[in-house]
Amino acid sequence: MADFDYDLFTIGAGSGGVRASRLASLSGAKTAVAEEYRPGGTCVIRGCVPKKFMVYASGFAKSFRQAEGYGWSVGEPRFDWPAFRDAMAGEVDRLSGIYAKNLANAGVELIEDRAELTGAHEIRLVKSGRTVTARHILIATGGVPNRPEGVAGAEHAITSNELFHLDKLPEHLVIAGGGYIACEFAQVFAGLGVKTCLVYRGDIVLRGFDDDVRAFVHEQLKASGVRVITHAVFTSIEPSKREGFHTVHLDTGDELESDAVVLATGRDPYTAGLGLEAAGVEVLENGAIKVDEYSRTSVDHIYAVGDVTNRVNLTPVAIREAMAFVETVFKDRPTAFDYSDIASAVFTQPPVGTVGLTEAEARRTHGEIDIYKSKFRPMKGMLTAKPDWMLMKLVVRAEDQVVVGVHIAGDDAPEIIQAVGIAVKAGLTKAQFDQACAVHPTVAEELVTMREKWVDPTPGTAG
Ligand code: NDP
Repeated sequence: MADFDYDLFTIGAGSGGVRASRLASLSGAKTAVAEEYRPGGTCVIRGCVPKKFMVYASGFAKSFRQAEGYGWSVGEPRFDWPAFRDAMAGEVDRLSGIYAKNLANAGVELIEDRAELTGAHEIRLVKSGRTVTARHILIATGGVPNRPEGVAGAEHAITSNELFHLDKLPEHLVIAGGGYIACEFAQVFAGLGVKTCLVYRGDIVLRGFDDDVRAFVHEQLKASGVRVITHAVFTSIEPSKREGFHTVHLDTGDELESDAVVLATGRDPYTAGLGLEAAGVEVLENGAIKVDEYSRTSVDHIYAVGDVTNRVNLTPVAIREAMAFVETVFKDRPTAFDYSDIASAVFTQPPVGTVGLTEAEARRTHGEIDIYKSKFRPMKGMLTAKPDWMLMKLVVRAEDQVVVGVHIAGDDAPEIIQAVGIAVKAGLTKAQFDQACAVHPTVAEELVTMREKWVDPTPGTAG
Protein backbone atom coordinates (compact mmCIF):
# COMPACT_ATOMS: atom_id res chain seq x y z
CA MET A 1 0.00 0.00 0.00
CA ALA A 2 1.26 3.47 -0.89
CA ASP A 3 2.69 5.64 1.85
CA PHE A 4 1.29 9.11 2.30
CA ASP A 5 2.46 12.09 4.33
CA TYR A 6 -1.01 12.44 5.84
CA ASP A 7 -4.12 10.32 6.30
CA LEU A 8 -6.20 13.47 5.81
CA PHE A 9 -5.27 16.77 4.23
CA THR A 10 -7.94 19.45 4.52
CA ILE A 11 -7.91 22.58 2.38
CA GLY A 12 -9.58 25.44 4.25
CA ALA A 13 -9.76 26.05 8.00
CA GLY A 14 -13.31 27.35 8.19
CA SER A 15 -16.15 25.82 10.16
CA GLY A 16 -16.35 22.63 8.09
CA GLY A 17 -12.63 22.11 7.57
CA VAL A 18 -11.72 22.68 11.20
CA ARG A 19 -14.41 20.37 12.56
CA ALA A 20 -13.52 17.58 10.15
CA SER A 21 -9.78 17.92 10.80
CA ARG A 22 -10.16 17.88 14.57
CA LEU A 23 -12.48 14.89 14.63
CA ALA A 24 -10.38 12.95 12.13
CA SER A 25 -7.22 13.61 14.11
CA LEU A 26 -8.89 12.65 17.39
CA SER A 27 -9.91 9.36 15.76
CA GLY A 28 -6.23 8.63 15.07
CA ALA A 29 -5.74 9.98 11.54
CA LYS A 30 -2.57 11.98 10.84
CA THR A 31 -4.14 15.25 9.76
CA ALA A 32 -3.07 18.62 8.39
CA VAL A 33 -5.19 21.58 7.39
CA ALA A 34 -3.99 24.37 5.10
CA GLU A 35 -5.38 27.88 5.40
CA GLU A 36 -4.26 30.72 3.15
CA TYR A 37 -5.79 33.50 5.25
CA ARG A 38 -6.83 33.02 8.88
CA PRO A 39 -8.34 30.07 10.77
CA GLY A 40 -12.07 30.55 11.26
CA GLY A 41 -13.29 30.95 7.69
CA THR A 42 -16.16 33.08 6.49
CA CYS A 43 -18.31 32.60 9.58
CA VAL A 44 -15.75 33.81 12.10
CA ILE A 45 -13.63 36.20 10.05
CA ARG A 46 -16.04 37.96 7.69
CA GLY A 47 -19.50 36.50 8.15
CA CYS A 48 -21.88 35.40 10.87
CA VAL A 49 -19.80 36.48 13.87
CA PRO A 50 -18.75 40.05 12.97
CA LYS A 51 -22.11 40.52 11.20
CA LYS A 52 -23.95 39.76 14.42
CA PHE A 53 -21.79 42.23 16.33
CA MET A 54 -22.80 44.83 13.75
CA VAL A 55 -26.46 43.93 14.18
CA TYR A 56 -26.08 44.39 17.94
CA ALA A 57 -24.28 47.73 17.43
CA SER A 58 -26.99 48.96 15.11
CA GLY A 59 -29.82 47.70 17.33
CA PHE A 60 -28.88 50.09 20.15
CA ALA A 61 -30.37 52.93 18.11
CA LYS A 62 -33.79 51.40 18.65
CA SER A 63 -33.05 50.53 22.27
CA PHE A 64 -32.25 54.17 23.02
CA ARG A 65 -35.53 55.24 21.45
CA GLN A 66 -37.48 52.56 23.31
CA ALA A 67 -35.83 53.47 26.62
CA GLU A 68 -37.46 56.89 26.49
CA GLY A 69 -40.87 55.25 26.47
CA TYR A 70 -39.93 53.61 29.73
CA GLY A 71 -39.02 56.88 31.42
CA TRP A 72 -35.30 56.98 30.70
CA SER A 73 -33.59 60.16 29.50
CA VAL A 74 -30.93 59.08 27.10
CA GLY A 75 -29.58 62.31 25.66
CA GLU A 76 -28.16 62.45 22.16
CA PRO A 77 -26.57 59.02 21.43
CA ARG A 78 -23.33 59.12 19.46
CA PHE A 79 -21.75 56.21 17.65
CA ASP A 80 -17.98 55.80 17.39
CA TRP A 81 -17.33 53.53 14.38
CA PRO A 82 -13.55 53.11 14.82
CA ALA A 83 -13.98 52.16 18.48
CA PHE A 84 -16.64 49.59 17.63
CA ARG A 85 -14.81 48.30 14.54
CA ASP A 86 -11.61 47.73 16.48
CA ALA A 87 -13.42 46.01 19.36
CA MET A 88 -15.15 43.74 16.86
CA ALA A 89 -11.82 42.99 15.12
CA GLY A 90 -10.29 42.15 18.50
CA GLU A 91 -12.98 39.60 19.20
CA VAL A 92 -12.57 38.10 15.72
CA ASP A 93 -8.81 37.80 16.41
CA ARG A 94 -9.54 36.05 19.69
CA LEU A 95 -11.91 33.57 18.07
CA SER A 96 -9.52 32.87 15.19
CA GLY A 97 -6.85 32.15 17.80
CA ILE A 98 -9.20 29.71 19.52
CA TYR A 99 -9.73 27.89 16.22
CA ALA A 100 -5.96 27.55 15.82
CA LYS A 101 -5.60 26.40 19.45
CA ASN A 102 -8.37 23.82 19.11
CA LEU A 103 -6.66 22.39 16.04
CA ALA A 104 -3.37 22.13 17.91
CA ASN A 105 -5.08 20.56 20.95
CA ALA A 106 -6.57 17.92 18.67
CA GLY A 107 -3.15 17.16 17.15
CA VAL A 108 -3.88 18.73 13.76
CA GLU A 109 -1.00 20.40 11.93
CA LEU A 110 -2.10 23.88 10.82
CA ILE A 111 -0.26 24.94 7.68
CA GLU A 112 -0.60 28.66 7.04
CA ASP A 113 -0.25 28.50 3.30
CA ARG A 114 -2.31 28.25 0.16
CA ALA A 115 -2.82 24.65 -0.95
CA GLU A 116 -3.53 23.55 -4.52
CA LEU A 117 -4.14 20.08 -5.85
CA THR A 118 -1.49 18.85 -8.27
CA GLY A 119 -2.66 15.25 -8.50
CA ALA A 120 -5.21 12.88 -7.09
CA HIS A 121 -3.24 12.47 -3.84
CA GLU A 122 -0.86 15.38 -4.16
CA ILE A 123 -1.02 18.94 -2.83
CA ARG A 124 1.35 21.81 -3.48
CA LEU A 125 1.84 24.43 -0.81
CA VAL A 126 2.22 27.66 -2.73
CA LYS A 127 4.25 29.84 -0.34
CA SER A 128 6.67 27.19 0.82
CA GLY A 129 6.85 25.40 -2.53
CA ARG A 130 6.54 22.08 -0.66
CA THR A 131 4.56 19.16 -2.10
CA VAL A 132 2.78 16.74 0.23
CA THR A 133 0.65 13.65 -0.28
CA ALA A 134 -2.48 12.46 1.49
CA ARG A 135 -4.58 9.31 1.53
CA HIS A 136 -7.77 11.39 1.81
CA ILE A 137 -8.32 15.01 0.85
CA LEU A 138 -11.13 17.24 2.09
CA ILE A 139 -11.94 20.43 0.21
CA ALA A 140 -13.57 22.98 2.49
CA THR A 141 -12.66 26.26 0.84
CA GLY A 142 -16.08 27.92 1.22
CA GLY A 143 -17.36 30.68 -1.03
CA VAL A 144 -16.52 34.17 -2.22
CA PRO A 145 -18.80 37.12 -3.00
CA ASN A 146 -19.68 37.24 -6.67
CA ARG A 147 -19.61 40.32 -8.87
CA PRO A 148 -22.45 40.44 -11.37
CA GLU A 149 -21.28 40.56 -14.96
CA GLY A 150 -22.04 43.54 -17.10
CA VAL A 151 -21.72 46.23 -14.43
CA ALA A 152 -19.14 48.65 -15.77
CA GLY A 153 -16.88 49.94 -13.01
CA ALA A 154 -17.82 47.09 -10.64
CA GLU A 155 -14.28 47.37 -9.24
CA HIS A 156 -15.41 50.56 -7.46
CA ALA A 157 -17.81 48.49 -5.36
CA ILE A 158 -16.99 46.57 -2.21
CA THR A 159 -18.56 43.39 -0.85
CA SER A 160 -19.51 42.14 2.60
CA ASN A 161 -15.83 41.15 3.03
CA GLU A 162 -14.78 44.79 3.24
CA LEU A 163 -17.73 46.17 5.21
CA PHE A 164 -16.20 45.15 8.52
CA HIS A 165 -13.04 47.17 7.94
CA LEU A 166 -14.27 50.54 6.64
CA ASP A 167 -12.00 53.45 7.61
CA LYS A 168 -15.00 55.54 8.43
CA LEU A 169 -18.74 55.17 8.51
CA PRO A 170 -20.06 56.22 5.10
CA GLU A 171 -22.56 59.02 4.72
CA HIS A 172 -24.47 57.10 2.12
CA LEU A 173 -24.50 53.41 1.25
CA VAL A 174 -26.00 51.77 -1.82
CA ILE A 175 -26.33 48.02 -1.77
CA ALA A 176 -27.25 45.68 -4.62
CA GLY A 177 -29.21 42.51 -3.87
CA GLY A 178 -32.23 41.39 -1.90
CA GLY A 179 -30.90 38.30 -0.14
CA TYR A 180 -29.66 37.65 3.40
CA ILE A 181 -26.59 39.85 3.16
CA ALA A 182 -28.22 42.82 1.44
CA CYS A 183 -31.14 42.95 3.87
CA GLU A 184 -29.05 42.42 6.99
CA PHE A 185 -26.46 45.04 6.11
CA ALA A 186 -28.97 47.58 4.81
CA GLN A 187 -30.59 47.68 8.24
CA VAL A 188 -27.28 47.55 10.09
CA PHE A 189 -26.07 50.71 8.36
CA ALA A 190 -29.44 52.45 8.48
CA GLY A 191 -29.46 51.84 12.25
CA LEU A 192 -25.99 53.35 12.51
CA GLY A 193 -27.29 56.52 10.90
CA VAL A 194 -26.07 55.94 7.33
CA LYS A 195 -28.44 56.94 4.51
CA THR A 196 -28.98 53.55 2.97
CA CYS A 197 -30.50 52.47 -0.31
CA LEU A 198 -31.13 48.87 -1.35
CA VAL A 199 -31.49 48.10 -5.04
CA TYR A 200 -33.20 44.81 -5.79
CA ARG A 201 -33.94 43.29 -9.20
CA GLY A 202 -37.14 41.54 -8.01
CA ASP A 203 -40.29 42.81 -6.33
CA ILE A 204 -40.08 41.59 -2.72
CA VAL A 205 -36.79 40.78 -0.94
CA LEU A 206 -35.72 37.37 0.42
CA ARG A 207 -36.81 35.19 -2.47
CA GLY A 208 -37.21 31.61 -1.31
CA PHE A 209 -38.60 32.53 2.10
CA ASP A 210 -42.28 32.32 3.02
CA ASP A 211 -44.22 35.05 1.23
CA ASP A 212 -45.62 36.52 4.46
CA VAL A 213 -42.11 36.73 5.90
CA ARG A 214 -40.84 38.40 2.73
CA ALA A 215 -43.61 41.00 2.80
CA PHE A 216 -42.95 41.63 6.49
CA VAL A 217 -39.20 42.10 6.03
CA HIS A 218 -39.73 44.28 2.97
CA GLU A 219 -42.02 46.59 4.95
CA GLN A 220 -39.69 46.64 7.94
CA LEU A 221 -36.74 47.56 5.73
CA LYS A 222 -38.63 50.63 4.64
CA ALA A 223 -39.89 51.34 8.16
CA SER A 224 -36.30 51.32 9.42
CA GLY A 225 -35.39 54.09 7.00
CA VAL A 226 -33.89 52.06 4.15
CA ARG A 227 -34.83 53.36 0.72
CA VAL A 228 -35.82 50.27 -1.26
CA ILE A 229 -35.72 50.41 -5.05
CA THR A 230 -37.17 47.33 -6.74
CA HIS A 231 -37.12 46.09 -10.34
CA ALA A 232 -33.73 47.69 -10.86
CA VAL A 233 -30.10 46.65 -11.28
CA PHE A 234 -26.79 48.48 -11.42
CA THR A 235 -25.54 49.16 -14.93
CA SER A 236 -22.39 51.10 -14.08
CA ILE A 237 -20.47 52.68 -11.25
CA GLU A 238 -18.16 55.65 -11.81
CA PRO A 239 -16.34 58.14 -9.62
CA SER A 240 -18.48 61.22 -9.07
CA LYS A 241 -17.37 64.84 -8.81
CA ARG A 242 -17.58 64.69 -5.05
CA GLU A 243 -14.34 63.40 -3.51
CA GLY A 244 -14.70 59.80 -2.28
CA PHE A 245 -18.15 59.37 -3.83
CA HIS A 246 -19.38 57.29 -6.76
CA THR A 247 -22.36 57.53 -9.01
CA VAL A 248 -24.31 54.33 -9.46
CA HIS A 249 -26.36 54.16 -12.65
CA LEU A 250 -29.44 51.93 -12.63
CA ASP A 251 -31.15 50.35 -15.62
CA THR A 252 -34.21 52.45 -14.76
CA GLY A 253 -32.20 55.54 -15.66
CA ASP A 254 -31.90 56.60 -12.02
CA GLU A 255 -28.59 57.68 -10.51
CA LEU A 256 -27.48 57.32 -6.91
CA GLU A 257 -24.49 59.09 -5.40
CA SER A 258 -22.80 57.27 -2.58
CA ASP A 259 -19.50 56.94 -0.72
CA ALA A 260 -19.98 53.17 -0.27
CA VAL A 261 -21.29 50.91 -3.01
CA VAL A 262 -21.81 47.32 -1.97
CA LEU A 263 -22.49 44.19 -4.03
CA ALA A 264 -24.47 41.54 -2.14
CA THR A 265 -25.57 39.54 -5.13
CA GLY A 266 -24.73 36.07 -3.89
CA ARG A 267 -21.65 34.00 -3.27
CA ASP A 268 -19.81 31.55 -5.53
CA PRO A 269 -17.98 28.37 -4.53
CA TYR A 270 -14.31 29.19 -4.02
CA THR A 271 -12.49 26.85 -6.36
CA ALA A 272 -10.40 29.25 -8.45
CA GLY A 273 -6.91 27.88 -9.03
CA LEU A 274 -7.52 24.94 -6.70
CA GLY A 275 -6.29 22.39 -9.24
CA LEU A 276 -9.54 20.43 -9.39
CA GLU A 277 -8.84 19.35 -12.98
CA ALA A 278 -5.39 18.04 -12.01
CA ALA A 279 -7.03 15.83 -9.40
CA GLY A 280 -9.98 14.86 -11.60
CA VAL A 281 -12.62 16.47 -9.37
CA GLU A 282 -15.79 17.39 -11.28
CA VAL A 283 -17.73 20.58 -10.78
CA LEU A 284 -21.36 21.40 -11.52
CA GLU A 285 -22.46 24.09 -13.96
CA ASN A 286 -22.72 26.64 -11.13
CA GLY A 287 -19.07 26.00 -10.19
CA ALA A 288 -19.87 23.97 -7.07
CA ILE A 289 -17.96 20.76 -6.44
CA LYS A 290 -20.14 17.80 -7.31
CA VAL A 291 -20.60 15.47 -4.34
CA ASP A 292 -22.78 12.52 -3.39
CA GLU A 293 -24.82 12.18 -0.19
CA TYR A 294 -21.62 11.34 1.73
CA SER A 295 -19.85 14.48 0.42
CA ARG A 296 -17.66 12.30 -1.81
CA THR A 297 -16.53 13.99 -5.05
CA SER A 298 -16.08 12.28 -8.40
CA VAL A 299 -12.72 11.05 -7.05
CA ASP A 300 -13.18 8.30 -4.47
CA HIS A 301 -10.84 9.56 -1.78
CA ILE A 302 -11.51 13.30 -2.22
CA TYR A 303 -14.43 14.82 -0.33
CA ALA A 304 -15.87 18.31 -0.10
CA VAL A 305 -18.07 19.98 2.53
CA GLY A 306 -19.60 23.39 3.13
CA ASP A 307 -20.27 26.29 0.79
CA VAL A 308 -17.86 25.02 -1.88
CA THR A 309 -20.49 22.35 -2.60
CA ASN A 310 -23.33 24.91 -2.62
CA ARG A 311 -25.87 22.65 -0.93
CA VAL A 312 -27.28 24.55 2.06
CA ASN A 313 -24.82 27.36 2.69
CA LEU A 314 -24.96 27.71 6.46
CA THR A 315 -22.23 27.24 9.06
CA PRO A 316 -24.01 24.56 11.13
CA VAL A 317 -24.68 22.59 7.95
CA ALA A 318 -20.98 22.64 6.98
CA ILE A 319 -20.19 21.39 10.48
CA ARG A 320 -22.71 18.56 10.23
CA GLU A 321 -21.42 17.60 6.77
CA ALA A 322 -17.91 17.54 8.23
CA MET A 323 -19.02 15.30 11.10
CA ALA A 324 -20.77 12.94 8.69
CA PHE A 325 -17.60 12.84 6.54
CA VAL A 326 -15.47 11.76 9.51
CA GLU A 327 -18.01 9.11 10.50
CA THR A 328 -18.02 7.79 6.93
CA VAL A 329 -14.31 7.82 6.19
CA PHE A 330 -12.55 7.40 9.52
CA LYS A 331 -15.06 5.49 11.62
CA ASP A 332 -16.43 3.15 8.98
CA ARG A 333 -19.99 4.32 9.64
CA PRO A 334 -21.34 5.72 6.33
CA THR A 335 -23.35 8.75 7.40
CA ALA A 336 -25.35 11.14 5.23
CA PHE A 337 -26.52 14.41 6.74
CA ASP A 338 -30.29 14.84 6.70
CA TYR A 339 -31.07 18.23 5.12
CA SER A 340 -34.74 18.30 6.09
CA ASP A 341 -36.08 20.90 8.51
CA ILE A 342 -32.93 22.93 9.03
CA ALA A 343 -33.86 25.94 11.13
CA SER A 344 -32.19 29.19 10.15
CA ALA A 345 -32.30 32.89 10.85
CA VAL A 346 -31.92 36.16 9.00
CA PHE A 347 -30.61 38.93 11.22
CA THR A 348 -32.70 41.71 9.85
CA GLN A 349 -34.20 44.10 12.39
CA PRO A 350 -36.47 42.62 13.56
CA PRO A 351 -35.01 39.25 12.62
CA VAL A 352 -36.49 36.17 11.00
CA GLY A 353 -36.49 32.57 12.17
CA THR A 354 -37.71 29.84 9.90
CA VAL A 355 -37.87 26.06 9.74
CA GLY A 356 -39.47 23.61 7.34
CA LEU A 357 -41.63 24.35 4.33
CA THR A 358 -42.96 27.72 3.25
CA GLU A 359 -46.70 27.93 2.60
CA ALA A 360 -46.10 27.77 -1.16
CA GLU A 361 -43.74 24.77 -0.88
CA ALA A 362 -46.18 22.95 1.41
CA ARG A 363 -49.05 23.48 -1.04
CA ARG A 364 -46.89 22.16 -3.87
CA THR A 365 -45.66 19.17 -1.85
CA HIS A 366 -48.70 18.22 0.21
CA GLY A 367 -51.71 19.75 -1.53
CA GLU A 368 -54.12 20.62 1.22
CA ILE A 369 -52.66 22.51 4.14
CA ASP A 370 -53.90 24.56 7.07
CA ILE A 371 -52.36 27.90 7.92
CA TYR A 372 -52.34 29.53 11.33
CA LYS A 373 -50.94 33.00 11.52
CA SER A 374 -50.85 35.94 13.80
CA LYS A 375 -49.47 39.45 13.37
CA PHE A 376 -49.36 41.44 16.55
CA ARG A 377 -47.51 44.14 18.46
CA PRO A 378 -45.24 42.62 21.10
CA MET A 379 -45.65 43.99 24.61
CA LYS A 380 -42.18 45.54 24.77
CA GLY A 381 -43.00 48.19 22.21
CA MET A 382 -46.34 49.22 23.64
CA LEU A 383 -44.92 52.00 25.83
CA THR A 384 -42.81 53.37 23.01
CA ALA A 385 -43.57 55.85 20.27
CA LYS A 386 -43.19 53.26 17.51
CA PRO A 387 -44.30 49.77 18.57
CA ASP A 388 -42.82 46.87 16.59
CA TRP A 389 -44.73 44.17 14.79
CA MET A 390 -44.30 40.43 15.02
CA LEU A 391 -45.43 37.69 12.65
CA MET A 392 -45.92 34.04 13.55
CA LYS A 393 -47.04 31.43 11.10
CA LEU A 394 -47.61 27.68 11.31
CA VAL A 395 -47.91 25.60 8.16
CA VAL A 396 -49.80 22.38 8.89
CA ARG A 397 -50.29 19.39 6.58
CA ALA A 398 -54.06 18.91 6.52
CA GLU A 399 -54.17 15.10 6.20
CA ASP A 400 -52.28 14.29 9.41
CA GLN A 401 -52.02 17.72 11.07
CA VAL A 402 -48.20 17.57 11.20
CA VAL A 403 -46.61 21.03 11.50
CA VAL A 404 -44.38 21.14 8.42
CA GLY A 405 -43.24 24.75 8.68
CA VAL A 406 -42.88 27.55 11.21
CA HIS A 407 -42.02 31.11 10.20
CA ILE A 408 -41.41 33.89 12.66
CA ALA A 409 -40.45 37.51 12.07
CA GLY A 410 -39.93 39.71 15.08
CA ASP A 411 -37.57 40.22 18.01
CA ASP A 412 -36.08 36.98 19.35
CA ALA A 413 -37.25 34.97 16.32
CA PRO A 414 -33.82 33.28 15.87
CA GLU A 415 -33.82 32.16 19.52
CA ILE A 416 -37.40 30.91 19.34
CA ILE A 417 -36.92 29.03 16.06
CA GLN A 418 -34.01 27.03 17.47
CA ALA A 419 -36.36 25.54 20.08
CA VAL A 420 -39.44 25.15 17.91
CA GLY A 421 -37.23 23.61 15.22
CA ILE A 422 -36.88 20.59 17.49
CA ALA A 423 -40.65 20.08 17.44
CA VAL A 424 -40.81 20.43 13.64
CA LYS A 425 -37.88 18.06 13.12
CA ALA A 426 -39.61 15.59 15.45
CA GLY A 427 -42.73 15.75 13.27
CA LEU A 428 -45.13 16.95 15.96
CA THR A 429 -48.75 17.73 15.13
CA LYS A 430 -50.68 20.94 15.64
CA ALA A 431 -52.59 19.20 18.48
CA GLN A 432 -49.28 18.40 20.19
CA PHE A 433 -48.20 22.02 19.86
CA ASP A 434 -51.50 23.01 21.47
CA GLN A 435 -51.03 20.56 24.33
CA ALA A 436 -47.97 22.52 25.43
CA CYS A 437 -48.98 25.10 28.02
CA ALA A 438 -48.18 28.71 27.15
CA VAL A 439 -45.38 30.64 28.86
CA HIS A 440 -46.87 34.01 29.76
CA PRO A 441 -46.27 36.82 28.98
CA THR A 442 -44.03 36.02 26.03
CA VAL A 443 -44.30 36.44 22.29
CA ALA A 444 -43.55 32.75 21.75
CA GLU A 445 -46.74 31.69 23.54
CA GLU A 446 -48.54 32.57 20.31
CA LEU A 447 -47.10 29.35 18.84
CA VAL A 448 -49.23 27.24 21.17
CA THR A 449 -52.31 29.42 21.36
CA MET A 450 -53.29 29.95 17.70
CA ARG A 451 -56.64 28.16 17.40
CA GLU A 452 -58.31 29.67 14.34
CA LYS A 453 -57.26 28.54 10.88
CA TRP A 454 -56.29 31.42 8.63
CA VAL A 455 -58.92 32.01 6.00
CA ASP A 456 -57.56 33.77 2.94
CA PRO A 457 -59.72 36.86 2.34
CA THR A 458 -58.95 36.62 -1.39
CA PRO A 459 -59.36 32.93 -2.23
CA GLY A 460 -57.24 31.65 -5.10
CA THR A 461 -54.35 34.04 -4.47
CA ALA A 462 -52.57 32.15 -1.69
CA GLY A 463 -49.24 30.45 -2.27
P1 NDP B 1 -28.45 35.35 -1.71
O1 NDP B 1 -28.33 34.26 -2.70
O2 NDP B 1 -29.20 35.14 -0.46
O3 NDP B 1 -29.05 36.63 -2.40
C1 NDP B 1 -28.49 37.17 -3.58
C2 NDP B 1 -29.33 38.37 -3.98
O4 NDP B 1 -28.73 39.03 -5.07
C3 NDP B 1 -30.73 37.97 -4.41
O5 NDP B 1 -31.62 38.95 -3.97
C4 NDP B 1 -30.60 37.95 -5.93
O6 NDP B 1 -31.81 38.25 -6.58
C5 NDP B 1 -29.63 39.08 -6.16
N1 NDP B 1 -28.84 38.90 -7.38
C6 NDP B 1 -28.20 37.79 -7.80
N2 NDP B 1 -27.56 38.02 -8.96
C7 NDP B 1 -27.79 39.30 -9.28
C8 NDP B 1 -27.41 40.12 -10.37
N3 NDP B 1 -26.65 39.65 -11.35
N4 NDP B 1 -27.84 41.39 -10.39
C9 NDP B 1 -28.61 41.87 -9.39
N5 NDP B 1 -29.01 41.14 -8.33
C10 NDP B 1 -28.61 39.87 -8.28
O7 NDP B 1 -26.94 35.78 -1.43
P2 NDP B 1 -26.27 36.64 -0.30
O8 NDP B 1 -25.09 37.26 -0.97
O9 NDP B 1 -27.24 37.55 0.37
O10 NDP B 1 -25.81 35.56 0.72
C11 NDP B 1 -25.01 34.46 0.30
C12 NDP B 1 -25.24 33.25 1.16
O11 NDP B 1 -24.66 33.46 2.41
C13 NDP B 1 -26.71 32.95 1.42
O12 NDP B 1 -27.23 32.09 0.46
C14 NDP B 1 -26.68 32.31 2.76
O13 NDP B 1 -26.61 30.93 2.62
C15 NDP B 1 -25.41 32.81 3.41
N6 NDP B 1 -25.74 33.77 4.48
C16 NDP B 1 -26.48 33.36 5.54
C17 NDP B 1 -26.82 34.25 6.54
C18 NDP B 1 -27.67 33.80 7.68
O14 NDP B 1 -27.83 32.60 7.85
N7 NDP B 1 -28.26 34.71 8.45
C19 NDP B 1 -26.38 35.64 6.49
C20 NDP B 1 -25.63 35.97 5.34
C21 NDP B 1 -25.34 35.06 4.37
P3 NDP B 1 -32.98 37.14 -6.79
O15 NDP B 1 -33.74 37.08 -5.53
O16 NDP B 1 -33.77 37.70 -7.92
O17 NDP B 1 -32.28 35.88 -7.16
